[in-house]
Order: sequence, then structure tokens, then C-alpha cells
Amino acid sequence: MKIILAQDAGYCFGVRNAVEIAYKTARDHGDVYMLGHIVHNEQVVEDLSRAGAKVVKDLQSVPEGKPVLFRAHGTANPIWEKAREMNMDIVDATCPLVRDIHEEVKNLAEAGYRIFIIGDHGHDEVAGIASQVENAKIIATPDEARKLSKVKRAGVVSQSTQTISNVQEIINVLMTKVHDLRFINTICFPTKRNQEQIINLAKTCDIVIIIGSFTSANSKRLAQLAVQRNPRSYQVTGAKDLDRNWFININTVGISAGASTPDSVIEEVTQIIEKIAKQQNQDVSYG
Ligand code: SF4
Repeated sequence: MKIILAQDAGYCFGVRNAVEIAYKTARDHGDVYMLGHIVHNEQVVEDLSRAGAKVVKDLQSVPEGKPVLFRAHGTANPIWEKAREMNMDIVDATCPLVRDIHEEVKNLAEAGYRIFIIGDHGHDEVAGIASQVENAKIIATPDEARKLSKVKRAGVVSQSTQTISNVQEIINVLMTKVHDLRFINTICFPTKRNQEQIINLAKTCDIVIIIGSFTSANSKRLAQLAVQRNPRSYQVTGAKDLDRNWFININTVGISAGASTPDSVIEEVTQIIEKIAKQQNQDVSYG
């Protein structure tokens, strides 16, 4: 059996950086507080919590004098303002690529464009982007785009982790609605790379395993892209979810993981797949 691990499976550099900052701040200050989970992965959240990086639901719940960490996917302006007003010790782990999206929408709005954001309603990154300008409109699906009235000028960006196909379909609809349309492709390069790699694995491998929490939109999108091309694609949160029947009479397994899946979980899953193959008397090689 050949096991092919996607080259960039797992943490993107923005999430890796934020997790490292969380551990370091917890070490330096005894503990650090975050509004919501730093990554959508239960195991990482548990490890971080043990190290002193704790989740709170609002700024008021951060104990006096303790640092608050703003996560990789950005924080809405009103929360920044409130934290500054409260004179809090803010540790900013916003990914530079998310900051670039904030700059792009501000520039578009200043140039007189109505802002459309292609992204998930209620997602923190999207809320952070929308908070940079007045009256941003969030569009999640081509159907939502179809319901829009005609607009003279619109500037469009996307959430960093959107799929290229969803963005393309929405842009196609917007071309029929907007006279002066400016689109800036803000899907980040780690997301694009991961999507290309999973598509490739799904087309060339007998089965595909996508490792990631079911609460991670990014992992679910990878699983969707794989399953559309290869019905024998399975999302697992860790080695315990693997079913040995999936691996009977197959020659190649492709493995990828969402941007919030830690290396340790990827290694564990890979090792267990190797073990299953050996139990089925198969030689194992890596590609
Ligand atoms: S998914 Fe992209 S934009 Fe988001 S944190 Fe990772 S690198 Fe940054």
C-alpha cells in the first residue's frame, strides 16, 4: 500500500504562529485568555487549556491584569476598541494575510465601491472583515448573489478559506448584477495549495482520508472537495475514527488535514494506517 501525505497537510503558518504565541504568552504570564477557540480542534484546545491558554466568551470575563489573545482569523473592530478602552494587555495573533484582506476592503470602500464579502455568515473572520467598513454585504452562496439587486460599483473580497469554485460561481452571478465590478482574490495561498493537493489526491488515490474536526469549516471544505471527486473519501478527527474495512484491497491512500489539525494527530493517523496495511500483509511505501 502506498501512503501519500499531502505536502502541506495540517497547520497553515497563521494558525501555527497563533498557537505558538498562545503557549508562549501562557508560559510568560501564567495564563492567557481568548475569545473563542484558537483553532477548531478539540485536542489542541485541551492541550492549550492545560498549558494555561483559556477560552472566555467576552472581554469582561478576562481576569484583571491578564493578557487577552486575538486569534489568527482577526477580531472585529468594536472588540478591539472595547479592549483598548478597558486598557487590556492585547496579544495580537492576527494572520498577516487576514490583515491584508482588512486593508483591501478599506481601500475599496475609500475608492467608492460597495463592499461584498464572499464568506460564511456568523464566522469570526468574516465579521472582522465586515467591521472594517460601513454596510458590507456578506454573500455565502450563488443563490444569495442571485437575490441581490443591481449595483453600479462593487468591490468583492473573500474569506481566506473559501473554495475557489464557490467564489467563481458567485463572481459569475455578480457579473450580471454589477456594472463596475472589482474582485480581489483573497483566498489565502495555503488554502489554495491545500485545495489543489486534495483534488489531486482524490483523483489519483483509491481512498482519501481527511483529518480534521467536524467543527472546522476548513476541514469540512477539504472533505467536500475530495468526496465530489472520489466517493471513497472519509473525514476523521483522529486515528480512533479509522475503519479498517476502508483499506481492504486498495493500493493507494491519500491523506490530508485541515489548517487546524496538529502534526501529532496527522502522525498518529498515518502510523495506524501503516499498521492496518501491515496486518493485511501489505508492503507499505510512502509517496
Ligand atoms: S487559513 Fe490562511 S489566512 Fe487563515 S490563518 Fe491560515 S494562512 Fe492565515
